[in-house]
Amino acid sequence: KLGTSLKDAVKKLAGKTVIDRAAVDELVRDLQRALLQSDVNVKLVMQLSQSIKQRSLEEEPAKGMGVREHVLRIVYQELVRLMGSTTEVTLGPQKILMAGLQGSGKTTTTAKLARYFQRKGLRVGVICADTFRPGAYDQVKTLCDRINVPCFGNPKETDAEKITREGLAAYKQLEVVIIDTQGRHALEDHLIEEIINLNTLSKADHRWLVIDAALGQQASEQARRFHEAIGIDGVIVTKMDGTAKGGGALSAVSETKSGIVFIGSGETIEDLERFDPDGFISRLLGMGDLRALVERAEEAVSGEDLDVNAMLKGKFTLRDMYKQLEALNRMGPLKQIMGMLPLGNMQIPDDAYDITSSKMDRYKVIMDSMTPAELDDPSVISSSRIHRIARGAGVSPDDVRELIKYYKTMQRALKGMRGMGGGKFNMQRMM
Ligand code: GDP
Ligand code: MG
Repeated sequence: KLGTSLKDAVKKLAGKTVIDRAAVDELVRDLQRALLQSDVNVKLVMQLSQSIKQRSLEEEPAKGMGVREHVLRIVYQELVRLMGSTTEVTLGPQKILMAGLQGSGKTTTTAKLARYFQRKGLRVGVICADTFRPGAYDQVKTLCDRINVPCFGNPKETDAEKITREGLAAYKQLEVVIIDTQGRHALEDHLIEEIINLNTLSKADHRWLVIDAALGQQASEQARRFHEAIGIDGVIVTKMDGTAKGGGALSAVSETKSGIVFIGSGETIEDLERFDPDGFISRLLGMGDLRALVERAEEAVSGEDLDVNAMLKGKFTLRDMYKQLEALNRMGPLKQIMGMLPLGNMQIPDDAYDITSSKMDRYKVIMDSMTPAELDDPSVISSSRIHRIARGAGVSPDDVRELIKYYKTMQRALKGMRGMGGGKFNMQRMM
């Protein structure tokens, strides 16, 4: 599976300290494959990978951030930039014109939107301007009846503009008016002409393009045609409950320079969701929650800065160690995080990884029973002090010894780092 190969490429970056062109190239190639498989437009994929490659090589990774996090962060940022953030939906008076080919889900989405605005306490009306498809009026009327939303239309009328004009006049008192239009099977000139006229006469506030998530490379062309005609200002992707990844939506958004407004996630009237870029990107790439990963890394590096130089000169207190453990613990299972960090030749005993949060809690209690002098320099802790600390903390003397032993291991590791480049190293990378 291609989604897996992207994951593998990402894994290969783990532990790397230096950004090399070959590694970035490989990741970008796998990213391209994943995006193409998700039906993202070829040209768009090329543009994206170009900027990801360039930024990955040119930008310095944030302090304490490994190559893997650095590149993933850029991938994420570029995709978010492309998709825009969630497009705002105004909860006030507005006219919305629905655009899209037949079968894309316009009529269903019209009813879903009516429901959405109705739930927000607005007075909503729907106009059926689809005079082409047999039974179009009945379809939308049935849906509207279910939610008690008025539906204007006339199954015998063939003039969509006339219906729209009359409908708008009838709905003057309503706050939100949604105009459902015909789709036809292809982008015929007549269809384009009609929607231009409907847009002009309705003075619509929004022109939302409805596209099927399964729409692949044709999405660009469709979006472009509709955009040139009426100026699309939002995209709705339907049928995201299916297996399609929705890559066509990316093309549509890029062509129209708009954003995704809603996601259709089922056949019922309630199956409409506001767009969530994170979920969408994860699905597109076939990866877990990318943002969570990026944020985890960012949070950890933004943790309290330690005086690395002082530590390298030999001042490494128990408090320093605890802070580091806290920062690492916030990132998740220690061993997994260690795999992401550049460790060089450092020897870390296997049981050093085994810092569970309950162990952290115990360390904290023990440290609370120590004097400031002991915390600064645990070497002053004699056997009798160990017993005193243990009693104070309600733990066994062995627990205290374990903490001190752990500290010594880390201190030794730190000494080993000295002379390997001094202040350039950061404890987070070491531990
Ligand atoms: P229109 O021709 O653009 O008006 O499209 P319709 O609203 O008539 O929808 C075409 C088909 O797609 C219908 O069978 C809908 O039930 C179905 N459909 C629309 N939106 C969704 C969705 O979000 N999920 C699923 N599973 N089906 C949808
Ligand atoms: Mg329809």
